[in-house]
Amino acid sequence: MKIILLGPPGAGKGTQATMLEDKFGIPQISTGDMLRAAVRAQSPMGVKAKECMDAGELVSDEIVVGIVRERLQQEDCQGGFILDGFPRTIPQADALKQVLIDIAKPLDSVVSLQVDTDALVERLTGRRTCRQCGKGFHLKFDPPGADGRCTVCGGELVQRDDDCEETIRNRMQVYHQQTAPLEDYYRAEGLLQVIDGMADIADVQASIVKALQDK
Ligand code: ADP
Ligand code: AMP
Repeated sequence: MKIILLGPPGAGKGTQATMLEDKFGIPQISTGDMLRAAVRAQSPMGVKAKECMDAGELVSDEIVVGIVRERLQQEDCQGGFILDGFPRTIPQADALKQVLIDIAKPLDSVVSLQVDTDALVERLTGRRTCRQCGKGFHLKFDPPGADGRCTVCGGELVQRDDDCEETIRNRMQVYHQQTAPLEDYYRAEGLLQVIDGMADIADVQASIVKALQDK
């Protein structure tokens, strides 16, 4: 299965992608995670990307298309993949189209998660991630253990630098200007499946799985 998870910041793309990865045995490809790894490693690409990420702006199409093109050619993507957070602009979608033609892996579905703005802000401000294993939590909706630590590895939970209110506002604006037009782009290709992302995590997962199976 080759799918894209589309939706604004905080819609639940990463949460759902991790669950789909386990269910279908195909990798989650999160450009945000890859860029944060590059920032941590202080690679030249990470150093370049950090400024944009901290400001809630998009990293250049050239950089993200390059990392996705390379990633999709790896062995574990042969049976399919879940793109999370990519594409985010029309040029990225055009570039992806060409990459998928080159590797003969057409998309099966583009799942768009619909979530109200107020809920997005609440989800983003309460989001926490394990510093050690990367597992995601939410202080209210998907809480960590009683000790406030990761339920999988006991690691310390941290808040992303860009999950502060000011940056969140900018990320929402960037989403509406640059990413939301992708809904029409993929609707025109007959690939878009719209899902109500307001339900709880398990119910959203069930709706996505059903939509993918119906396709
Ligand atoms: P995205 O990858 O789209 O930015 P995440 O998957 O990281 O979003 O989710 C943002 C936050 O919202 C996380 O803390 C996650 O635990 C929480 N979350 C995800 N899905 C839901 C949901 N259906 N209901 C409530 N909270 C959710
Ligand atoms: P995310 O983890 O998907 O919320 O992404 C965090 C940040 O990484 C974004 O605000 C952007 O700065 C950057 N980023 C992630 N994916 C992309 C992309 N496809 N195009 C451009 N920038 C991206």
